Amino acid sequence: MSSLDFAALAARLVAWHAAHQRVLPWRAASAGARAAYPVWISEIMLQQTRVETVESYFQRWMERFPTVEALAAADLQEVLKAWEGLGYYARARNLHQAAQEIVARYGGVLPADRKALLALPGIGEYTVGAILSIAYNQPEPILDGNVKRVLARLCDIEEPINTPAVLRRLWGLARALVEAAPTGAAGACNEALMELGATICTPQNPRCLLCPLVDACRAAAKGTQRARPVMPPRKQMPHYDVAAGVIWAGEPYRSQLLLAQRPPQGMLGGLWEFPGGKLEASDADLPACLRREIAEELGITIEVGDRLTTVRHAYTHFRITLHAFHARHIAGAPQAIGCQDWRWVDVDELTVFPLPVTDQKIVAALQATAKASSAARETG
Ligand code: SF4
Repeated sequence: MSSLDFAALAARLVAWHAAHQRVLPWRAASAGARAAYPVWISEIMLQQTRVETVESYFQRWMERFPTVEALAAADLQEVLKAWEGLGYYARARNLHQAAQEIVARYGGVLPADRKALLALPGIGEYTVGAILSIAYNQPEPILDGNVKRVLARLCDIEEPINTPAVLRRLWGLARALVEAAPTGAAGACNEALMELGATICTPQNPRCLLCPLVDACRAAAKGTQRARPVMPPRKQMPHYDVAAGVIWAGEPYRSQLLLAQRPPQGMLGGLWEFPGGKLEASDADLPACLRREIAEELGITIEVGDRLTTVRHAYTHFRITLHAFHARHIAGAPQAIGCQDWRWVDVDELTVFPLPVTDQKIVAALQATAKASSAARETG
């Protein structure tokens, strides 16, 4: 099998990109130190999230935190609120902390240096490659899901894509390509690879006739495109039932309700939620689970009432069914035992707090029920 002519492939990618790149808000920035901030933010947002979703978040983010300094000076709650709905909230916490380090150590400018970037929270090999190549035009590789797919097809790699040996090979291919890119086009070469994976070399139906790499593509030559990349076997995702309480201080909808803040580290860290937790084998039923969780987390006694709504949600490694119940505070002063903080809040204050997607759905159900009951009162 003939070896790949990386210089020719990189030149074709760069030319294809110049003609076909999509207009995306983070591409508007010029190169250099000023471009590094939007590149960093967009690349972190794009991890695990679709381009269409990221566009509006990115624009709002840049209006709110237009510079590294503005992000560093912001309150973490404000940062989490701006991230609300994007998931993987550690990304937002890391951005905030890294911005503070960039201001303290580098005068607010992202360093153009691999080692210095890797030392910042939340910045890994992939983000380093994006910042150094796209903003600073250094020949550093990028390997996201799109690039892996393109390269695995280009070389018709038959082994599962996640093995250390295949990952090493893919990083090597990505590096060979970017190092062979025409002078000054390292960023364009990387962006072209990502763009090609997103728009032409798509997971299900690659459009090989439109691909600038088709002449060299081994999978296209053998007709194995759809069988590449070889994915590792899917693991069965565990499922958990979770009970959450909309705990009213008094009369539902006419009194305040209790929100709890999750511990700062770990999943959904720092976000606010309707308190509750996972159904255990020892719980008689969901209301019993909720009473136990609330006693453990906040040290109070509640009476569990009607079910408000049920929300199903899939995280990366597990799925949950969240059963939300109305509940009434009976006894005890809330204490932050298993949570970071707690607050009695009015219903119309709920949107001020950064909430996980599941809890935003509980808020929507609360608002819908409140509207329906006030309409019923008016007609009655
Ligand atoms: S020729 Fe087809 S399979 Fe090969 S890289 Fe291009 S789109 Fe992907």
